[in-house]
Amino acid sequence: MYDVAVVGAGPTGAALSYFLSSKGLRVLVIEKDPRPGMRTICGEYLPDPRSLGLEGEIASAYMSFFKPFIVHRMERITMEIGDREFTTNYTGYSVDRREMVTSRLEESVVEGSTLRTKEAFITARLSGDAYEVRTSKDRYRARYLVGADGFDSRVAKLINGSTTIKCDDLALAFSSEVRIEVEEPDVMRLVINESLAPGTYAWVIPRSEGIANVGVGVRLNMMNGFDPERALEKHLARLGAAAIKPKLRGRYVPAGGMVGKLHEGGIFLAGDAAGMTIPSNGGGMHTGIIAAYLLAKSLADGNPRSYISSVNRIIRPMVETGLTHRRAADFLLKTGLLWKTVRFLPRSLIEEVIRMERGPYYPLLKLLSSLYGLVRGKVGNYPACKWGSRTHHTLERSRTHWSIPASPRST
Ligand SMILES: Cc1cc2nc3c(=O)[nH]c(=O)nc-3n(C[C@H](O)[C@H](O)[C@H](O)COP(=O)(O)OP(=O)(O)OC[C@H]3O[C@@H](n4cnc5c(N)ncnc54)[C@H](O)[C@@H]3O)c2cc1C
Repeated sequence: MYDVAVVGAGPTGAALSYFLSSKGLRVLVIEKDPRPGMRTICGEYLPDPRSLGLEGEIASAYMSFFKPFIVHRMERITMEIGDREFTTNYTGYSVDRREMVTSRLEESVVEGSTLRTKEAFITARLSGDAYEVRTSKDRYRARYLVGADGFDSRVAKLINGSTTIKCDDLALAFSSEVRIEVEEPDVMRLVINESLAPGTYAWVIPRSEGIANVGVGVRLNMMNGFDPERALEKHLARLGAAAIKPKLRGRYVPAGGMVGKLHEGGIFLAGDAAGMTIPSNGGGMHTGIIAAYLLAKSLADGNPRSYISSVNRIIRPMVETGLTHRRAADFLLKTGLLWKTVRFLPRSLIEEVIRMERGPYYPLLKLLSSLYGLVRGKVGNYPACKWGSRTHHTLERSRTHWSIPASPRST
């Protein structure tokens, strides 16, 4: 019998396995992929704990989890909106996500965790004082069950049922690594431009000398006619990038905030499975790692419910601020006001948004966010939203991932 069964070995599951096993708990990790951590579709950017306002033990646990895998440090973020640029101090890092996930999993196995790959979680039921966990290959018993199985989590469905996700609460993001000489290697650049990234943004995240992670995203309610490959090419052309890796790959990013219930009985959710992704910027590794630490600590202390209060104190405000920012931006985009007012946007407002602070502009952003409800219009439900640019590509679709095979234009 295990103390904890963790479903999913992404950044959140790897962090759970690492923190739980280092606290002496018997952990089982169930991952459906044959090689966990290897399928990296990500900007691989993590904010410094101080940028997130974290301190003390949580800050050091979060930082120590990814510190060995930092490949580059950045000191600022520049946001491009139309012909204006807003730059603010904000420390963050490019990490080697693949190395981070695989190494932390390996270390946790050395500490006693059991990792089962190529094995999908099917369901679980309470039997006596433990959960009987059924997978595609076996049955296990565990005192606690944690869903770290990402967007559209099967474990989340056990406690929240099948909830309806609106298309505007979901984005698809595509990333690639390119050779490029960035002018300012200590700056992460975000570009708000509806032709490059409808309802989201395009990014450039420097990694090492001459290499950057670049990407574009699209919200599902704005996909019609969007062609990620072309958008990325356009983005790269503006940057003067030389070559692009052959495959552009995309993945869902939840952008609607946290799911209804984060726990029921001995079942808990963390990371994307819990909707902990920041709706305004799509970052979810940091919240997943922090949640993993909070949950490991609560379970090891024998006080599982303290996880919920910790999440409500630390992670929920980050996600809700992001949701307010996202909806306020949606209102300005939907009404066309953003482009009409871009010249007048105060620097301090955009800096507050980039830093994810609840500063002097927060009440105004809250108001704009509530107005989004009036102009939102009819938004379909996922998965009814249709992909609009199939004619240009053979878009290989699995349940949560897309791959666009290389075309001559992109090599
Ligand atoms: C293009 C792109 C760029 C991004 N850039 C950044 C960034 O720069 N910084 C950042 O912080 N975030 C970024 N994100 C978001 C980030 O990738 C996610 O928030 C993060 O991966 C969430 O981690 P997770 O472990 O919770 O979920 P996931 O990474 O989705 O991992 C879930 C795991 O569970 C497994 N699984 C699912 N179902 C089952 C099942 N039934 N049985 C067994 N296993 C299962 C999956 O195979 C997977 O390995 C980006 C996302 C995209 C798409």
